[in-house]
Amino acid sequence: MQKPLSPRIVLHLDMDAFYAAVEQLDHPAYRGKPVVVGADPKGGSGRGVVATCSYEARQFGIHSAMPISQAYRRCPQAVFVFPRFPRYTEISRQVMRLLQEYSPQLLQISIDEAFIDITQTANFHGGAKVLAEKIKARIKNEVGLTASVGVAPNMFIAKVASDLRKPDGLTICAAGQEKNFLAPLPVKKLWGVGPKTEAHLQKMGFSTIGQIAQCPQKLLAEKLGKWGAHLWELANGIDERPVEDWGPRKSISQEHTYDQDVADSKIVEQTIWKIADGLSADMRNADLKGQVLTLKIRLEGFETFTRQRKLPEFTNDAETMRQLALEIFRNFDRRGKKVRLIGLGMSHLNNVGGEQLSLFQTAEQTRRDKVAGLLDAVRAKHGDEAATRASLLEK
Ligand SMILES: [Mg+2]
Repeated sequence: MQKPLSPRIVLHLDMDAFYAAVEQLDHPAYRGKPVVVGADPKGGSGRGVVATCSYEARQFGIHSAMPISQAYRRCPQAVFVFPRFPRYTEISRQVMRLLQEYSPQLLQISIDEAFIDITQTANFHGGAKVLAEKIKARIKNEVGLTASVGVAPNMFIAKVASDLRKPDGLTICAAGQEKNFLAPLPVKKLWGVGPKTEAHLQKMGFSTIGQIAQCPQKLLAEKLGKWGAHLWELANGIDERPVEDWGPRKSISQEHTYDQDVADSKIVEQTIWKIADGLSADMRNADLKGQVLTLKIRLEGFETFTRQRKLPEFTNDAETMRQLALEIFRNFDRRGKKVRLIGLGMSHLNNVGGEQLSLFQTAEQTRRDKVAGLLDAVRAKHGDEAATRASLLEK
């Protein structure tokens, strides 16, 4: 009944020095020159920061988020320009449309970055490497810009890979090579590790990802809590999150991770019961109804499965969702394995009433509130920096 677990192929694409590259594309006179996109430097007294700069500007030590006054001091002869977001958005859409031709499973995480899952489509294009080369070539020919690409069995490693050889890079981590690929890299490459956490990890004796991977997960969990257990998973190349749009407009979900894996179906059914209530409340608050229910089950060892069912009508009714979720769960063969996480989601959303726009704003607000709550929790435990990084991961 269940498909055998074959490795996934995830591609991450990141445009090179995006805003600056667009400026050089649109203004041939800027090409080959240091270009700084950001605030007005006002002859060195300007406030505000650098948004993006060209690779030529990077040679002067200029980088994103640097105060614009400092950038000016480092290279007064650079071309300083204001961002033109409508133009960047236009090109971003062009790139995303192109990516979508290679997989319907796309997750855009910023204006110039996206993941696509090419597990099902790579073979039609002569394999993952050829597919990645095709995408890069088309972006060069049709858009006029370069992108760096990472290909790996999951999102975390694909993103690390795309960053390794910039600009115009292509880095592939084959299935089975996850640990070797990550081992020599510094711990700051792990998602969620900023300068403060990096220093903390170094104090604990970890400077490479491989060193974390070799440490018993229990020990990291003892020292750093759930966060430590999560770091261990990333360090070992484990990241099972599917490439799907997490945006509030397309789906809404709730899930529960057990402190200890659960064997008893009755306990899982109780959790489904509670989640259906919570999800229904969230949906009613956000004026949402949905037509496709997804049950997500993660088993011990981190295998993750999703099962979807379409409902005859749009709903946010707890009882309806609960009955369907229980039916799916009871029909799911978990081969005697314990359950680590259970989740319920609704997609194919339609609003109950009012305009789409207000609907989206409400849903967005719900999401923000949730993230806000999560951030408070992380902050309480690990300090602000961890929370900021976690928020990026949570998207
Ligand atoms: Mg980029």
